[in-house]
Amino acid sequence: MTNHYDVVVVGGGHAGCEAASAAARAGARTALVTLRFDTIGVMSCNPAIGGLGKGHLVREIDAMDGLMGRVADDAGIQFRLLNRRKGPAVRGPRTQADRKLYRLAMQAAIRQQAGLDVIEGEVLDFEINNGEIDDGRIAAVLLADGSRLACGAVVLTTGTFLRGLIHIGEKKIVAGRMNEQASVGLSATMSRAGFRLGRLKTGTPPRLDGRTIDWASLESQAADEDPVPFSLLTDRIENPQIHCGITRTTNATHELIRTNLGRSAMYSGSIEGVGPRYCPSIEDKIVKFGDREGHQIFLEPEGLDDDTVYPNGISTSLPEDVQLDILKTIPGLERATMLQPGYAIEYDHVDPRELKPTLETRRIAGLFLAGQINGTTGYEEAGAQGLLAGLNAARKASASEEIVLSRTEAYIGVMVDDLTSRGIAEPYRMFTSRAEFRLSLRADNADERLTPLAIRLGIASPERMQRFNNGMQDLETARQLALGTTMTPNEAARHGLEVNRDGVRRSAYELLAYPGVDIAWLVRIEPAFAAIDSKTAERLETEAKYSVYLDRQQADVSQIRHEESRLIPESLDFASVPGLSNELKQKMLARQPRSIADAQRMEGMTPAALAIIVAHVRNAEAAARKQVA
Ligand code: FAD
Repeated sequence: MTNHYDVVVVGGGHAGCEAASAAARAGARTALVTLRFDTIGVMSCNPAIGGLGKGHLVREIDAMDGLMGRVADDAGIQFRLLNRRKGPAVRGPRTQADRKLYRLAMQAAIRQQAGLDVIEGEVLDFEINNGEIDDGRIAAVLLADGSRLACGAVVLTTGTFLRGLIHIGEKKIVAGRMNEQASVGLSATMSRAGFRLGRLKTGTPPRLDGRTIDWASLESQAADEDPVPFSLLTDRIENPQIHCGITRTTNATHELIRTNLGRSAMYSGSIEGVGPRYCPSIEDKIVKFGDREGHQIFLEPEGLDDDTVYPNGISTSLPEDVQLDILKTIPGLERATMLQPGYAIEYDHVDPRELKPTLETRRIAGLFLAGQINGTTGYEEAGAQGLLAGLNAARKASASEEIVLSRTEAYIGVMVDDLTSRGIAEPYRMFTSRAEFRLSLRADNADERLTPLAIRLGIASPERMQRFNNGMQDLETARQLALGTTMTPNEAARHGLEVNRDGVRRSAYELLAYPGVDIAWLVRIEPAFAAIDSKTAERLETEAKYSVYLDRQQADVSQIRHEESRLIPESLDFASVPGLSNELKQKMLARQPRSIADAQRMEGMTPAALAIIVAHVRNAEAAARKQVA
């Protein structure tokens, strides 16, 4: 069988689904090749979407009309807005998901996508250069069954499957994740093509039978009363919302882990890969953080009609018998039955510095990588990269201008920039602290930041365009009302608000920045504010409260944008820049930054060194101008 596609996406995980959907929405004839259709949308580890930083990524995926937000809304069974008491910039929408509903909703979304074929199969290799033309560009992918899919671009999203190796104590199983085959051939292909590969590891806890947990003895955590959906397209969360249980490890747990540390795959020296510091195994927690008062475990039901429970917080690679003994030491789990043991998995990843900011590889034109293969961890990080890679693959196939998201406009931009310019030393996950401009990169304004781009690129559905435009119109009307309603300090005082008695009339927009002032307060003064719906009201309040800081941040954004546009001449000899350390010169020679912003993001770059480079570039520009004159 030979077929021709504009874009072939390899892998039906979180990155692959977003990539395939984005490519097809961008008008590319797209094939999604994956090992098994029924594993599309499988959540390999925790049954939850979103959280701090990650929730921002989901909102951004949604703003570009991607799938993850809508699917999570369909499958969510415990919505919670994290950091509710902190400022809106760092609030993180999160939901626990019903695994089965999530998988089915993702599969339905993929099936319904026009211009997208799903092919079950294993990709082993790819072909470069089409026929006579030696353009170093990808031309086809080759499947294990001998078929060949000719294409204009490929997105590889093979997650933890490249040379995947599961560890449960001393036991080792070659697998991409539990009960699924690893992808060995493709790893060899990438290595042969010269890609720098690394080895990483991650882990997952055992799964428990909820019917054997003593829920009555445990503290429980409820969902928010007013679940806030991820997607602009979701009006209401329909699923019933569940509670989860909370318990803790005990001294007996810690003792048991210490005694058996030598049998843990991670501590016996049999794992070479580096694990995520921010998602430590229970062994790591005991070794690195000690006993304290026990480590918290959230007992998260995996579905509405599923008794499986995910004990969030005890990911482990200890042998099965020790895992069983550990459960007996944890309150509420003394009689719990284990349905599947926890395990660690090691896998190959590609050094993300091999990628351009479009997620296309520098080595092979038309080959894009997204998701865990790039050294990230998490569904949201994978999905967000998938969206960008799929979009750019479609544009590559149709020779259209490529799309780069900047750190100033999206968390996706922050992540891709971190990955492609700094590389990774451990599995990368998103945090709000990674974004310099987090006051403007909020989860609540992701659509304002990105939907206009999605509309311009033609990947937003008519329904999204309409909802977005209506929302923006409502916001603008409310903004104008707030800017046009003014009052003196005396008038404000009559309504209980003390501001500086300087006689200056202040707009309602300015007053919204004062503590205690909200739209409900304004309604008491000007009834027209009652017409503002609650969603728009919340948005306006946030925008107004941040406006002073946002103005300041805007100046920084402009400065960075200006620098981003300052190019470093190709003729500049980095070795001859005086005042730079030899180490930095070597790094610059290897990386060849093309702009000041590019140089600024290099690992080891200091403000002083950057100032030297800027001065050097300016001198070079002046010398070039002189020569022309
Ligand atoms: P995956 O979801 O892994 O999907 C890869 C896809 O590629 C699969 O559909 C597979 O069938 C397909 N595929 C692979 N090779 C081929 C081939 N040659 N041909 C065709 N198809 C192929 N994330 C966290 O945030 N926190 C955690 O604690 C955490 N723990 C984890 C623990 C384990 C054991 C595992 C396995 C994952 C864990 N993750 C965790 C990571 C999370 O599951 C991934 O980040 C996310 O699923 C990555 O998405 P992806 O699309 O890149 O890859």
